[in-house]
Amino acid sequence: MNLLSEDLEKYIHQWATPEDEALKELTRETHLKVQMPQMLSGYLQGSFMTMFTALQQPKRVLEIGTFTGYSAICFAKGMSEDSLLYTLDINEELAPMCQRYFEKAAVADRIMMITGKALEIIPTLDETFDLVFIDADKHNYINYYNAVFDKVRPGGWIIADNVLWSGKVVNEQKDKDTQAIHAYNEKVAQDPRVKNFILPLRDGLNIAQKLV
Ligand code: SAM
Ligand code: CA
Repeated sequence: MNLLSEDLEKYIHQWATPEDEALKELTRETHLKVQMPQMLSGYLQGSFMTMFTALQQPKRVLEIGTFTGYSAICFAKGMSEDSLLYTLDINEELAPMCQRYFEKAAVADRIMMITGKALEIIPTLDETFDLVFIDADKHNYINYYNAVFDKVRPGGWIIADNVLWSGKVVNEQKDKDTQAIHAYNEKVAQDPRVKNFILPLRDGLNIAQKLV
């Protein structure tokens, strides 16, 4: 979903730091070779991710859903050299491409990619996270939230992507995916252990901060 007019989007691109060459190339290759290239975060959201990690300086980040590595690179670009981002994806075929672009973007030293089912991998990670980004299969969003919650430090962040689901969350009749996304938003809003807001950037980011 695009909440911006084409003209405004053009204006934003014109008057902001341009996208890195590595990210441009990754986007081109994803569109040429990979199914569902629309899953890429893209320039606007990616720039926000880099700024968020640059502001917060997280030492440990967990991303659930790597795809071709766009968002992982964007988070890692804002992170310090001694930090580590774990990124999980079930699709092992994409791993070599991701690794190539992690190297091209000069962030491979701070990214650990793990292939497999996220719900099986998360319990094996012996880490405390400053930031978790949920962006894999939508019907598991609540399961991911529950699985990571105790691993996030107080004051840490849980960000979930696509929480406006192309605007469908406000439809009366909701299909299965929309119901799952809406249930996630409902759960987070009702959880007294966090405060949150929904940033209407691209397809919507639910940004929650753990209080206790
Ligand atoms: N974060 C990426 C970005 O912004 O460029 C996009 C991620 S894409 C929307 C979702 C990814 O989740 C896909 O690459 C898919 O293979 C992965 N995925 C789906 N189910 C999964 C599971 N059970 N465990 C781990 N990854 C899964
Ligand atoms: Ca996404």
